Amino acid sequence: MVHFVGAGPGAPDLITLRGAELLKTADVVIYAGSLVNKEILRFTKADCEIYNSAEMTFRNVLDIMIQAESEGKTTVRLHTGDPSLYGAIREQMDALREQGIDYDVTPGVSSLFGAAAALGAEFTLPGVSQSLIVTRLAGRTAVPEGERLSDLARHGAPLAIFLSAGMLEEVRAELLRGGCAPETPAAIVYKATWPEEKALRCTVDTLAETGAAAGVYRTALVFVGRFLDAPYERSRLYDPSFSTGFRKAEP
Ligand code: SAH
Repeated sequence: MVHFVGAGPGAPDLITLRGAELLKTADVVIYAGSLVNKEILRFTKADCEIYNSAEMTFRNVLDIMIQAESEGKTTVRLHTGDPSLYGAIREQMDALREQGIDYDVTPGVSSLFGAAAALGAEFTLPGVSQSLIVTRLAGRTAVPEGERLSDLARHGAPLAIFLSAGMLEEVRAELLRGGCAPETPAAIVYKATWPEEKALRCTVDTLAETGAAAGVYRTALVFVGRFLDAPYERSRLYDPSFSTGFRKAEP
């Protein structure tokens, strides 16, 4: 059996209890070494075989899973954050299914949420925003037509931009092309929840210089939107004049 596990954004105690339990029982662990905090490997047993997928191809990873399965071993495939975002797990699951190997997925805390926590931000503020767009700039992986940053910026909803910290000038240009005002609040969060975390607030116009001044070119998320500093309305859920299924309005 192969367990895909979300390692969380970095801090080792942000893996889920289920994820940590699976690591404790694993005979083989294949971890995404470019981003997963190696300290998380302390949960593994002494004789666990550990592989860093950053140095491997898809075929290498699959071969190790197939070999482990043939020996009746349990494998954990450890991905950063939550595996469903930019984790390339679907191709692995499809290949395992073809091989008749069982698998399951344990979610993780995405760096998206680690970064929001670092900023003390709420994406969904009444009167400001009730949506969240998760996206990236095109890199070696293309972005489909209609999902360009400039297209998405037109919604005015909060944007969480992955995999683009090395292209902040392009991020700015695409946002402006999409009608985003240069003074729109923005933030760059580097290595959220790691000891070296940096949470930098700026505007769309100053994204590139803010990143450069802090030496941030990778392992960072970019947030854009008025949720970062606009005045908002208080939640109706806790409004005394409002009845809910659990509480009567005060007279
Ligand atoms: N599945 C992961 C994302 C993997 S893609 C998740 O849910 O978080 C890799 C990108 O994620 C990086 O380029 C960066 O944009 C972001 N990232 C990963 N870890 C991060 C962290 N601790 N802080 C900020 N951004 C991070």
